[in-house]
Amino acid sequence: MTTFDVLNPATAATITSVKHSTVAETDAAIDAAAKAFETWRHVAPADRARLLRRFADLVDQHLEELAQIEVANAGHTIGNARWEAGNVRDVLEYYAAAPERNLGKQIPVAGGLDITFNEPLGVVGIIVPWNFPMPIAGWGFAPALAAGNTVVLKPAEITPLSAIRLGELALEAGIPAGVFTVITGSGSEVGWRFVTNEKVAKVCFTGSTRVGKMIMAGAAEQVKRITLELGGKSANIVFADSDLELAAARAPYGVFDNAGQDCCARSRILVERSAYDRFLEMLEPAVKGVKVGDPNLEETEMGPLVSAQQLSVVSSFVPEGAPVAFQGTAPSGPGFWFPPTVLTPASASDRAVVEEIFGPVVVVLPFDDEADAIRIANDTAYGLSGSIWTNNVGKAIRVARGVEAGNLSVNSHSSVRYNTPFGGFKQSGIGRELGPDALLSFSDVKNVFIATE
Ligand code: NAD
Repeated sequence: MTTFDVLNPATAATITSVKHSTVAETDAAIDAAAKAFETWRHVAPADRARLLRRFADLVDQHLEELAQIEVANAGHTIGNARWEAGNVRDVLEYYAAAPERNLGKQIPVAGGLDITFNEPLGVVGIIVPWNFPMPIAGWGFAPALAAGNTVVLKPAEITPLSAIRLGELALEAGIPAGVFTVITGSGSEVGWRFVTNEKVAKVCFTGSTRVGKMIMAGAAEQVKRITLELGGKSANIVFADSDLELAAARAPYGVFDNAGQDCCARSRILVERSAYDRFLEMLEPAVKGVKVGDPNLEETEMGPLVSAQQLSVVSSFVPEGAPVAFQGTAPSGPGFWFPPTVLTPASASDRAVVEEIFGPVVVVLPFDDEADAIRIANDTAYGLSGSIWTNNVGKAIRVARGVEAGNLSVNSHSSVRYNTPFGGFKQSGIGRELGPDALLSFSDVKNVFIATE
């Protein structure tokens, strides 16, 4: 049996080792999920709802344990990790209300009665990245199960521990074996098997755009349904007429949260030229004030990067001679630490301006007017999120409509709420998660006509 060592990113110490499943074991888990689908799809909606509520209750009862797992395995701050476990509970509760409200339509037609059903797809394969192991898992499995599908879920190799625990809690809640299976292993073996195994009806993938493209191409072989949530290079657009002090105070938290390992990170701050110098002056103390350190401490605002590999990727964006405006602090010694870093590149084609960094590094760029801000914001292959800071309501709406991204916030950096849709434009993805319509992403619409004449 091959195993994979799981590390604590804050100390680089090994926590445990986790099994890497084989392709044959993946097929067995998919077979069990396909078998379980035949009964799960017929469980009465109210009973399916009750089981999901019980699952939510158990997550709530184990919230602190799940949070501690994430602090140890992903280096998330304890405050964030509690929010993440609470988010799994909330998403389960939200979609527990859905099976009994999974309404079809009655459509007026000649000569009979026409009705639609939202039929579950079958087995849904969910592939999760390491940056938000718990929430991203929940955004997939909760609505998928509510719609009547069964789920096989693969966490990222380096952060499997919270998903393994959630799988145990689901069984404890009474969700039948085979309905929700967590299987650990590599992306190229277990994850890819979700794409190639014909018994998997849909793949829900969150991760890099590179792998997302491979999954899309592979799924085409079987016209397999997909949802893709991929990378981002989002803009935080600050107009001179905004509350500049507030915009500068909040900007670090729009990009450095989770050490910048957030697909929604506002990693390009665009500032109206007339306010540029003043904004940078106020940004400096805000960045230097971010509390970076032991993620177990309540007051810590930013922990380490997730792995040595991620540290080396992020470091490559700040080579000797990089245009560093200023940096915050980070612990030295063991663990994968990188300080919050602000760059002011001279060129729009600088690698740090164009590529997703997925670490605590942000670029600040000036713009001339509203049209220029929209042009720069859209000058990227990505389109996931973004923020607009202005006190002019009309301008806020115009810019929000002009920016090609799925999730925008005005005078705020909020991106993800379980009750609103989330997903990307352009190469940030396909499909939407969360919100009132998520069950439709895990169903196919069936139309039935019954003649009355
Ligand atoms: P990744 O694409 O390397 O891995 C993501 C998951 O896919 C892991 O579970 C991995 O094992 C699996 N995988 C890898 N190769 C595979 C293959 N050939 N077939 C099937 N599965 C495979 O990404 P990562 O480095 O773990 O995550 C970081 C990336 O994820 C960033 O680019 C980030 O922007 C993106 N992300 C996007 C969102 C979003 O909602 N849009 C959310 C989180 C992360």
